Amino acid sequence: MMTTAPMTDDQGSKKGLEIVRTVADLRQVVSSWHKDGLSVGLVPTMGALHAGHLALIEQSVNAMDRTVATLFVNPKQFGPNEDLDTYPRDEDGDRDKLSVAGTDLLFAPSADEMYARGNSTGVSVAGLGDILEGEFRPGFFDGVATVVAKLLIQAGADTAYFGEKDYQQLLVIRRLARDLDIPTVIEGVAIVRADDGLALSSRNAYLSDEERRIAPALHQTLLGAAEKAGAGEDVAGIEAWAHTQLLDAGFTSVDYLTVRDAETLEAYGALGKDRPARVLAAAKLGSTRLIDNIPAE
Ligand code: AMP
Repeated sequence: MMTTAPMTDDQGSKKGLEIVRTVADLRQVVSSWHKDGLSVGLVPTMGALHAGHLALIEQSVNAMDRTVATLFVNPKQFGPNEDLDTYPRDEDGDRDKLSVAGTDLLFAPSADEMYARGNSTGVSVAGLGDILEGEFRPGFFDGVATVVAKLLIQAGADTAYFGEKDYQQLLVIRRLARDLDIPTVIEGVAIVRADDGLALSSRNAYLSDEERRIAPALHQTLLGAAEKAGAGEDVAGIEAWAHTQLLDAGFTSVDYLTVRDAETLEAYGALGKDRPARVLAAAKLGSTRLIDNIPAE
């Protein structure tokens, strides 16, 4: 095991950021904390950390005695034509940010540690995992569900934190934890945005200056769509308006911008209009695909 700060603990006080790379070491540290009666929070990430990730860390650090972050760019959730090879990676920078934010343990496994040779078991969340992102990124949620189920089982944390930035992913994870009887509580954390409304994302690093100027139109269009939904406009009309808005603003293409039931992501209204709704979008700006979502009033 490695540590980036001196270990001063023999009375249960915090020791600084420790780094482990094996499931066995992760389990050993977490079970020693649990033996000491300490609560443990888990924050899974793919790294290239920004203030959105750090909001999850902050929530865990505030609520739990110990916080574990994970750093793993999960090959199983990238399609053949997606950005696995170019996905931003900065483990040294991530370690510094996690340390400053009060994280206790970083689990940064290799792909071989996560996926033993011959592995053939996957987690698939039918229905919820097949629509919206699942439709445009086939296999994506199978990869996410498999790695998150593994991380939840490996860490055995009391609570795990996930961002509402990936709203459908949060619902998929809640579903799989319930269905697989994983006892970790799943907490959603509000989206952190830049001052101009753009949701922070590791992939924003791909945007050119011109694209970065256009990008906040996604959030603005979500706001407009939410207002229209609140005023009772029909979803097909809102979708058509939003597509035009985004293309006029300079987006290259729109995968979807739609209003759905906030809990099931089924068509809004199918279960009654008194239920909460969510506006969700995915659109391409050049070759960068951005996603975002907000509650509908
Ligand atoms: P990623 O590294 O992109 O897999 O994200 C790791 C976690 O951070 C996921 O639970 C994301 O939903 C969350 N996250 C990413 N960006 C944001 C953001 N802007 N605000 C809140 N949470 C975020």
